[in-house]
Amino acid sequence: STFESLQLVEPILKALKSEGYTNPTPIQEQSIPLILERKDLLGCAQTGTGKTAAFAIPIIQLLSQDKHLSTAKRRIRSLILTPTRELALQIGESFESYGKNTPLRYQVIFGGVSQFSQVNALRAGVDVLIATPGRLLDLMNQKIISLHQIEIFVLDEADRMLDMGFVHDVKKIISRLPQRRQSLFFSATMPPAIVALANSILLEPAKVEV
Ligand code: AMP
Repeated sequence: STFESLQLVEPILKALKSEGYTNPTPIQEQSIPLILERKDLLGCAQTGTGKTAAFAIPIIQLLSQDKHLSTAKRRIRSLILTPTRELALQIGESFESYGKNTPLRYQVIFGGVSQFSQVNALRAGVDVLIATPGRLLDLMNQKIISLHQIEIFVLDEADRMLDMGFVHDVKKIISRLPQRRQSLFFSATMPPAIVALANSILLEPAKVEV
């Protein structure tokens, strides 16, 4: 299939073309229509399958098509939670490139560096926040970030998140999200602890496996 047949809007198609992408990968082919239908999703996929674009592309489309989109008064409407700084930066670059022809703004936050420039960028307003759990909780506790306007939540690399000991932080963050939201959950493996976490986050999810 093609990206055109996935009903993507022209600004995104144009960006994908300039990236040199010709066809969607299997995870993209399966996930993009489901996410555009605003379904919750349980995705079993490894890094390297194109899973970042599988969630970034439909999120960009959903948020940029929203007729309430206000570039004057931005609020964080999508949160991507990922375990490491490297992954956060990669996801940020993906949003930048697929969304470059839209007015959306993205910000990556992670620990181990001063919060100063991250906080300044947030004050200028962002639509999509890509974060590691520790720094996000830190900024939430300082009341710099509020999650009450989140419409689409992504938990990326859930199994690694648990392996790295972030389960408590992740649960705390999720408890602060609005009940009414779309949630997308990605994990390379699905051991019982991951299935339990997925069940606590997702509502009647569609399942995708590659
Ligand atoms: P990921 O699994 O998200 O880490 O993506 C793996 C790599 O595949 C990244 O470098 C992407 O830029 C690239 N990629 C993702 N989707 C496509 C596609 N449809 N066509 C070509 N390359 C892609």
